[in-house]
Amino acid sequence: MEFIKAKTILTKVKYGAEWYGIDYNMNLYRGCPHKCIYCDSRSSCYHIDNFDVVRGKVNSLSILEQELSKKKEKGVIGIGSMSDTYNPFEKVYKITRGSLKLIAKYNFGVSIDTKSDLILRDIDLLKEINAKNSVIVKFTITTPNDDLSQVIEPNVCVSSKRLQAIKTLSDSGIFVGIMMNPVLPFITDKEEDIKTLVRLAYENGAKFIHTFMGMTLRGNERDYYFQKLDEYFKGLKEKYIKYYGDRYNCIVPNYKYLFKVFVDECNKYGILYKMSDIIKAYKKEIIGSEQLTLF
Ligand code: SF4
Repeated sequence: MEFIKAKTILTKVKYGAEWYGIDYNMNLYRGCPHKCIYCDSRSSCYHIDNFDVVRGKVNSLSILEQELSKKKEKGVIGIGSMSDTYNPFEKVYKITRGSLKLIAKYNFGVSIDTKSDLILRDIDLLKEINAKNSVIVKFTITTPNDDLSQVIEPNVCVSSKRLQAIKTLSDSGIFVGIMMNPVLPFITDKEEDIKTLVRLAYENGAKFIHTFMGMTLRGNERDYYFQKLDEYFKGLKEKYIKYYGDRYNCIVPNYKYLFKVFVDECNKYGILYKMSDIIKAYKKEIIGSEQLTLF
């Protein structure tokens, strides 16, 4: 891992009402070693050279503390949108753990995106934050099939381990669910797999699943993805080119039918899938440093 210095850490977000109700965003690491074949964060528009090399923001905790101490609005801080904050280096450097300590100290809420069961190490802090503000954990799971997850997400624990982690978090009272994003056309868009994943979500205590039933493809990300299709899924690259051309939003071919199947399964098991319902279910209203009411 390399180290870089950050100038600022927290960014105020404008789209929170549409995306998990988050108020601020932060990335404690730049780059990610998990090598998911579809990773949008390696797109050239983000200007991150050597995306697979992790760069830890060495001064992030001191800057975060300064920023948190000055903010009046005790909102929810999103972590890990651009790189998985529970990469293997986090075991040693504990930057994410340090940030959770500060979030707890200053009574903010947190929203974490991850694919790693290393998050279980920090259950004590998630519980502490949850007692005073809002916590949501979003595990990305794209397939119920461990062998397939190892191919498409090679450097992080397999889907079944992520489901076990969801169970542990849920049993600890943490609001946790699944981001079934992306759904890879012709690979992870099988009806039976979607049904299985919703059932497993229910059995492991997930409160929600969110999906847009497709993937994005653009500069650099597309090149890397196509290279991996050639390696592991012979002939699929040509099928993508024929079907999607150079489109950015690549929604699965039978979107309407699959989304209905997905919604029916979620309703059958009582799992939330609409963004507004997810936000309503987890986010507490905080004014000043007090938790006033639940929605
Ligand atoms: S875990 Fe997320 S950021 Fe890391 S490679 Fe996979 S998709 Fe990209």
